[in-house]
Amino acid sequence: MKTRTARNRIGHRAAKSSRLSSNGNGRVQAKTQKPAVSSQVRDWLSKPRHNLVGGKWVPAVSHKTFDVFNPAEASVIARVPDSDKEDINRAVTAARRAFESGSWRRLTASERGKLIWRIGDLILEHADELAEIESLDNGKPRAVARVADIPLAADLFHYMAGWATKIEGTTIPISVPYAPGAHFHAFTLREPIGVVGQIIPWNFPLLMAAWKLGPALATGNCIVIKPAEQTPLSALRLGELILEAGIPEGVVNIVTGFGETAGAALAAHPEVDKVAFTGSTEVGKLIVKAAAGNLKKVSLELGGKSPNIVFKDVADLDTAIAGAANAIFFNHGQCCCAGSRLMVERDIFDEVVEGVAEHAKKIKLGPGLSADTQMGPLVSEEQLSRVTNYMHQGKQSGACYVTGGSRAGDRGYFVQPTVVKDVKPTMSIVREEIFGPVVVAEPFTKPEELVARANQTEYGLAAGIWTRDISKAHRIAAELKAGTVWINCYNVFDAALPFGGYKQSGWGREMGHEVLELYTQTKAVVIGL
Ligand code: NDP
Repeated sequence: MKTRTARNRIGHRAAKSSRLSSNGNGRVQAKTQKPAVSSQVRDWLSKPRHNLVGGKWVPAVSHKTFDVFNPAEASVIARVPDSDKEDINRAVTAARRAFESGSWRRLTASERGKLIWRIGDLILEHADELAEIESLDNGKPRAVARVADIPLAADLFHYMAGWATKIEGTTIPISVPYAPGAHFHAFTLREPIGVVGQIIPWNFPLLMAAWKLGPALATGNCIVIKPAEQTPLSALRLGELILEAGIPEGVVNIVTGFGETAGAALAAHPEVDKVAFTGSTEVGKLIVKAAAGNLKKVSLELGGKSPNIVFKDVADLDTAIAGAANAIFFNHGQCCCAGSRLMVERDIFDEVVEGVAEHAKKIKLGPGLSADTQMGPLVSEEQLSRVTNYMHQGKQSGACYVTGGSRAGDRGYFVQPTVVKDVKPTMSIVREEIFGPVVVAEPFTKPEELVARANQTEYGLAAGIWTRDISKAHRIAAELKAGTVWINCYNVFDAALPFGGYKQSGWGREMGHEVLELYTQTKAVVIGL
């Protein structure tokens, strides 16, 4: 069991006592003035934040709270409930009551769809505010949250709203060999699973809440969701919008707290019928064990170490280089599908590596609220320590750092965008998920060996291929053990596209119509005629 809670608190204090540093390539932009927080968000942050249980905002039963930090400054921006087992019990009871009452699942599908659509509309109406909260809480540039996280979250609800009226069973012609001459009418119903526990991470806080809540709502389930301790704020603001949209009380319950307490209690709760988790593979395995008690259904979206393959016949090398940089540096590398293993055909290896390093050097680091920031801080002191430890291990094992390789500045949790070469398959930086802006580059000469090398990982979330040879692209895409393969592009997401992992990257798919399978169960009904 991890002891992250204590580590985080110590880490936050340590980072808080240090100071902002200077300016320049791979270093944090010095700011004479702190970027302003809007009065609307400042007011919202200044009010006590509570859990949403049974349609009411309530403090933790223990009345304990914990600090929420702005990772750009390691400063406290809010306090939220430090919930434990009893808070989870109450939230699950509220969700169970809502489920059994039928206030949600027995609404007409059309009414349910309209309410879910309204959540999407409200997210768009509050897009600036939500982007600001997300940026303050997670560290990502506000501009990125505004054009990516927020519209994608809204779109997810809009997409899932449409599915509410399309959850259909089938009619099945049955023969029943031991009942000759008998006639039956047989059909299936797809019913909600019941009370769903959802545990989400900090890298795309609002979007991950949307990925989880949208399909659960469309299929008529009632929910208890626990956001990550680092980034609970946008989920709490979303809870307010969910009530404003008119979702009945108890259908969505939001409980903040730590994974080891609130998260573990939710995963193990005997009245929870399904748990959906996004996060580390390590915790994913704990979720599976916790779920065994009542054999609740489990879906998991876990880590990755995704290969991004560039062939020398690529149509436009500059586009591929920019694509490779985006594949790893988007969201500060804190993406489960980050293209963190760059595999480049030998003839163009130096050019591609230099090109990606040039992109890295030009990235402007700074607080997410500054208009010119292109990369914010990592989310927490723990993540900073994790990523810089990997950087250190890579250096110790003899890898060559083309650029980056260290913390940036000494205040907040910034690291330098980093490109590494001369690596070996045994190195931890090649095998393990770093979850920071660190790419390891490896040349290849024999395309026939490439697929085996690309698949040489316990993960299987995503992969990229850059080539103009469409036959080769198709052949390799078919051989890669990954849930998503991007060809001549990377990080392309859509609410309609299923996303999830092969191997230890997870069970089940998020988004698309496939996710609906995870939130429904099939009932066969047979009528003797
Ligand atoms: P975790 O897997 O610990 O966190 C994900 C979620 O799980 C959080 O809500 C967390 O709660 C919760 N959680 C933690 N422990 C338990 C538990 N025992 N039972 C139930 N829920 C639990 O990720 P970290 O934040 O520790 O990040 C570590 C690494 O995980 C990263 O470096 C990255 O490699 C990977 N990761 C992968 C993500 C993905 O998208 N696939 C997203 C985030 C991380 P809380 O945070 O509140 O303690």
